[in-house]
Amino acid sequence: MSGPADNRSHPAGASSADHAPVRIVIIGAGFAGAYCAQRLESRLRSKTFRHVHVVVIDPRNYFIFYPFLIEAGTGALEPRHAVVSIRSFLRRAEFNMGEAKSIDFAARQILVGLRAPHGQETRTVSYDHLVLAPGSVTLHPPVPGLREHAFAIKELPDAVALRDRAIQLLEVASALPDEASRRRLLHWVIVGGSFTGAELAGEFHEFLRRVVRRYPNLRKSDCAITLVEREDRILRALHPRLSRYAEERMRKRGISIRLNETVREVHPDHIVLGNGERLEACTAVWCAGIAPPPLVGLLQAPRDERGYILCERDCRVRGMTDVWAIGDCAVNIDVDGKAYPATAQHAVREGRHVADNLARVLSGGQSLPFDYRTQGSLAALGCRTGVAEVFGMRISGFPAWWLWRTVYLLKMPGLARKARIAIDWTLDLFFRKDDVQLGVHEPGRRPAR
Ligand SMILES: Cc1cc2nc3c(=O)[nH]c(=O)nc-3n(C[C@H](O)[C@H](O)[C@H](O)COP(=O)(O)OP(=O)(O)OC[C@H]3O[C@@H](n4cnc5c(N)ncnc54)[C@H](O)[C@@H]3O)c2cc1C
Repeated sequence: MSGPADNRSHPAGASSADHAPVRIVIIGAGFAGAYCAQRLESRLRSKTFRHVHVVVIDPRNYFIFYPFLIEAGTGALEPRHAVVSIRSFLRRAEFNMGEAKSIDFAARQILVGLRAPHGQETRTVSYDHLVLAPGSVTLHPPVPGLREHAFAIKELPDAVALRDRAIQLLEVASALPDEASRRRLLHWVIVGGSFTGAELAGEFHEFLRRVVRRYPNLRKSDCAITLVEREDRILRALHPRLSRYAEERMRKRGISIRLNETVREVHPDHIVLGNGERLEACTAVWCAGIAPPPLVGLLQAPRDERGYILCERDCRVRGMTDVWAIGDCAVNIDVDGKAYPATAQHAVREGRHVADNLARVLSGGQSLPFDYRTQGSLAALGCRTGVAEVFGMRISGFPAWWLWRTVYLLKMPGLARKARIAIDWTLDLFFRKDDVQLGVHEPGRRPAR
């Protein structure tokens, strides 16, 4: 399926002048791909690797710092501050802003589409080693009306669109005398009680309650959020005690949590639950699961039943010597054969590990298996409260929220970004929420992809 990978490797100490150029191409510059490229830059700095060239391909010239995407949507952060410029994150790697359309593993070539103003241009990029890191997309099960009417939160425009939608609906509701119509407009149904759904419900609830003060015709109680979860508790990745705490706190604040429940249909002005109940709500946000990105579906690579790329313990794609897969798109397994979860934490570690393995292989050495112990999970639930499970400790309330902000602020790359975020948070503490639309949302057009 793929050519021999190590024919361009050379023993440590051999001069790079003795070797043909080696090209490592990384598809996707998200958490996995960007951190892989960054690690390669530092591992391949020596003269021995002068013949190695790293190319990164991504249709965006930034990567989303996902933990902050919801705050970008509620205005706690300026949207641009929730993303990282790839060109400033990487120093020496070549960046191509384009989308990998197809891959010929036998010829070791990638067809890349470049979005030009007059249409699509294409170019072919060849590789000696390929790292697949195109992430994931929102899962869209066959629920009638879901694709047409529901929102998602996966891209930066999604976050801005949600906020624009909220403001548009507040403006319309404020002009309506009829209470039932007002309530329908201001009722948000969030589907999926995992981290993204729970955080979105908590943060958005706080946002709506704060911004509604600007509308004299509306009351706080006109705004409602319903969180629908298929299982018997939200935040199932955490200890049941923390799930219970999160549920209690959110319910106390007025968020309705529907457990053991699904969504059967999504309509522009109502949602039908699995039990047939009709929720009068104009907005559904789908946070229930992820799926492999379209590129992965086109590849002649081994995949599991959900479509994710199956990998060996060293993160190489099964049966291939020169293709590696990391992050959300890949099934990388621990020593017991259990798949690592699809989180930023794991994507970053897998990215760095593959970079180290590539440096080993290019020096004539052996790649090592990926072994990583999860450090923990954190969730911010709005109103300065959160839940966290770190290094076996369970924390809830304000300390967990503080830890969430501190950990992610420290992890955000770049001093300038950190400073901007700290300023955004400080201003958000003292001033009212901004209530301007940024114009991304167009009524009747579903911005989620
Ligand atoms: C709202 C939200 C909040 C989250 N919060 C957390 C959190 O708090 N903590 C945590 O650990 N995890 C969190 N996650 C999960 C985490 O973001 C992902 O697990 C992580 O981003 C996976 O990294 P990745 O590099 O595989 O994918 P991504 O970071 O999504 O990067 C994939 C990249 O590939 C690019 N790409 C896609 N297709 C192509 C193509 N054909 N050609 C070229 N490039 C392509 C994309 O443009 C993108 O830049 C959150 C996710 C969401 C949606």
